[in-house]
Amino acid sequence: MRDFPFATSFWFGTDIETASCLEGQQIVDVAVIGGGFAGLSVAYHLKQSNADVRIAIVEAKHVGYGASGRNAGWLMSMPPLVWMLDNFNDPQRLDDIRWTAQFCRNNIAELSQFVEREGVDCDWTPTHHTLVARNPLEVATLRWIAPRFEAVGLDCTYYEKKQAQQFVGYSATSALTYDIVTIQPYKLARGLRQWLIQQGVDLYENTRIAYIESTKHDIRLATTQGASLTAEKVIVATNAYTNSIDLGIATPSASIYHTYMLATEPLRQDLLDRISETQTPFGDPSISFYIGRIHQHRLLFNGIDRASQNTPADDQHLPSFVKLYTEMLRRFPFLKSTPIAIAWGGAVQQNSTEAPIVRPTAHNPNIILNMGYGGGSGVGMALLSGRLTTDLVLNHATKDSEAKRLRGLYDASHFSVLGPVRAATGVLKTLLCR
Ligand SMILES: Cc1cc2nc3c(=O)[nH]c(=O)nc-3n(C[C@H](O)[C@H](O)[C@H](O)COP(=O)(O)OP(=O)(O)OC[C@H]3O[C@@H](n4cnc5c(N)ncnc54)[C@H](O)[C@@H]3O)c2cc1C
Repeated sequence: MRDFPFATSFWFGTDIETASCLEGQQIVDVAVIGGGFAGLSVAYHLKQSNADVRIAIVEAKHVGYGASGRNAGWLMSMPPLVWMLDNFNDPQRLDDIRWTAQFCRNNIAELSQFVEREGVDCDWTPTHHTLVARNPLEVATLRWIAPRFEAVGLDCTYYEKKQAQQFVGYSATSALTYDIVTIQPYKLARGLRQWLIQQGVDLYENTRIAYIESTKHDIRLATTQGASLTAEKVIVATNAYTNSIDLGIATPSASIYHTYMLATEPLRQDLLDRISETQTPFGDPSISFYIGRIHQHRLLFNGIDRASQNTPADDQHLPSFVKLYTEMLRRFPFLKSTPIAIAWGGAVQQNSTEAPIVRPTAHNPNIILNMGYGGGSGVGMALLSGRLTTDLVLNHATKDSEAKRLRGLYDASHFSVLGPVRAATGVLKTLLCR
């Protein structure tokens, strides 16, 4: 198949209501650039801490336009996934990772209360993700990773071949499940948007920031349309799109990667049963990363494919969709005559440690970066990020030792080749011991 029905995102409604764009010259206390989960979380946590602070979110297109409105909707309470390869014999490192995972879980619990309290209709579904092993190497990978997941506080269950088969229709040799939540991500972004507007946050959509000028006292954001917004503090939450702004300062290096997604037309129940008896999310434990979930009788299937840029052409990179479709049919050949309803892709920014970048810039401490949300747990990490920026914005008026600790862990994070070596050795040992 080479004729994919491209759209920006499967999750967007047909009629997207947007707020008016920024006009003239406006002044606020805090300006947030980017209306994805990271930007929305910044405004959400700031408003929770200080209802009087005047906040504006400036979004180039509409809230949820970027990765936050395009993702697969897996909300995981996980630290950056590469941290799972770290040295768990180091008690301090293990404690840090376990603590981070608990911090993520607490935030998801708080978010679930928000969703319930505000009646946000975003298909919030506590479920579990099943990592499915298809060969001895993958079985060894699951056996090696399971105690690590448990060590950081994830509730895991390991299944042998016969029981594993309930999770996917293709040949499973063993399986490992752990808790996640699935969401309709765009509806969650819209729910947060709605709440922020009710709290008096100024939202400017269809407003692209072109450049930033800063003085000792304030920072001026200039839009491509000639309007401007002056603020004491600015949070940059533009993730993969950060290079679209002339920040006038150097930012830490991070790469851009693309993930591609397919949604089938609604499927008959017998086909859904052949995909998965339990109809819960599933995926590979290997480096080739493909995952799937059933949503409203459709199969959503996706994979991270390539280092990229953030252009519309990257979103529709044909060879990546051909590869993804081939992988889907390899697992579910009986879907050969099922039409694909929508194909879409999106970009994330990620550094080699997968640790987000949350810190004031060296050049001007009033410009705070909140970016680098990629990897397998980008949704969860971006959605808690406002907790990490609030005390920076409020000049430590609210002391938050937990936020400080997590920022410190992000900053200290570095890529060690020992991680993959440790994983490879551990998996091989497990394989040989069987
Ligand atoms: C297809 C796909 C599937 C994914 N699946 C998952 C998943 O299932 N689970 C998971 O944990 N993670 C997943 N991720 C990653 C996750 O979606 C991201 O980590 C997260 O959404 C990043 O949020 P963000 O707010 O940092 O960035 P974004 O959502 O990209 O937000 C950045 C915003 O900034 C705006 N912007 C850009 N430039 C400007 C400018 N000059 N002026 C004003 N605004 C600007 C953009 O329009 C955009 O809305 C997936 C990503 C993709 C692309």
